[in-house]
Amino acid sequence: MAKPDPTTLHPATIAAHAGGAVDTATAGVVPAVHMSTTFTRDADYVPQVEGHVYLRSHSENVAIAERALAALEKADDALLFPSGMAAVAAVFRTLPDGATVLVQAQIYWGTTHWIRSFCTRRNIALVEVEASDIKAFSKACEDHRPALAWVETPSNPWLRIVDITASAKAAHGVGATLVVDSTAASPVLSQPLLHGADIVMHSATKGINGHSDVLAGALATNAPDAPIWQAITEDRNTAGAVLGPMEAWLLTRGMRTLPLRMERMSANALKLAEYLADHPKVTDVMYPGLPTHKGHALAAHQMSGGFGGLLSFVVDGGGEAALKVAGRLQLFMRATSLGGVESLVEHRHSIEPHTGIPEGLLRLSVGIEDAGDLMADLGQALGQ
Ligand SMILES: *Cc1c(COP(=O)(O)O)cnc(C)c1O
Repeated sequence: MAKPDPTTLHPATIAAHAGGAVDTATAGVVPAVHMSTTFTRDADYVPQVEGHVYLRSHSENVAIAERALAALEKADDALLFPSGMAAVAAVFRTLPDGATVLVQAQIYWGTTHWIRSFCTRRNIALVEVEASDIKAFSKACEDHRPALAWVETPSNPWLRIVDITASAKAAHGVGATLVVDSTAASPVLSQPLLHGADIVMHSATKGINGHSDVLAGALATNAPDAPIWQAITEDRNTAGAVLGPMEAWLLTRGMRTLPLRMERMSANALKLAEYLADHPKVTDVMYPGLPTHKGHALAAHQMSGGFGGLLSFVVDGGGEAALKVAGRLQLFMRATSLGGVESLVEHRHSIEPHTGIPEGLLRLSVGIEDAGDLMADLGQALGQ
């Protein structure tokens, strides 16, 4: 019987089989870890195995993880990096000095912080705009004619939703490349490339790996021949921001359960968001799965299978009250990051005090635990 057509397979199947990753040497059902940094040539000086010369450019484990990721993202090509920020930097490093870039305001602080300093150093004009307001985003495209536009949806920690189709249209109208940081959605809940994005970026440290034990980043595209993608690929090979074999192997293992984890995290987060929305000590809940969320209809249209595990809420009483609630939590661990199997809580204002984050805001990364246990923990911490 013929093998099923891989393009018709569903994410759960692609992920469980890690896009077909097996060990060809032993017929093992999981791939081996290939640690060798260099590969031998025959007597005529031809590489013994075609395409294997040196690990910086030819890592079998990286290639396996990239294939699995590309299949999930419905992308023609994917590139892994040793961190999400290394993936961000690889994109921005392709810009010529004097270029203009448009970046969504109030996104992941690490991205904003690094882009601001990079643009200053490289004499690149940086325009920050509230991209969930598509009118403001389109106007900024027309006014500034950027080479690159960068959005993040759902955004971290505000959970704002950007219309990918409309922003791609606005960016392409002025010849800009649109990059979408889709970390909070993961390749399972959203495929920005199918909505017109040119490049999708992930911190694979988060949901894709999902076990808080690998630092990695990813880029994917459906236009591998585009000059920007060629420049990024070349830069990774020569500048050497390459993921190690063991990390790539762990990432491949993590991805096998990605659809299952995203399903449970999304279901748990929705239950907690509904619970918090009714709680007298909570003044605001930011979760795109709630029908009351400003971006709900849009999120329902461009995401499928859930709204993710990231949610923020504002505790009545400001910073002191929020820190007390965080301090009383027993199951949610007080730590940064997101997308792991274990639930985390973070007081973002303590980390980025001058960026407009409400003092009472707590950001949750909801894991795969029992929803009732998590709800009970929030209940006791808020004081019912
Ligand atoms: C964590 C994160 C990043 C940065 O990724 P690292 O793997 O920590 O370098 C970028 N964007 C978003 C939305 C993130 O959550």
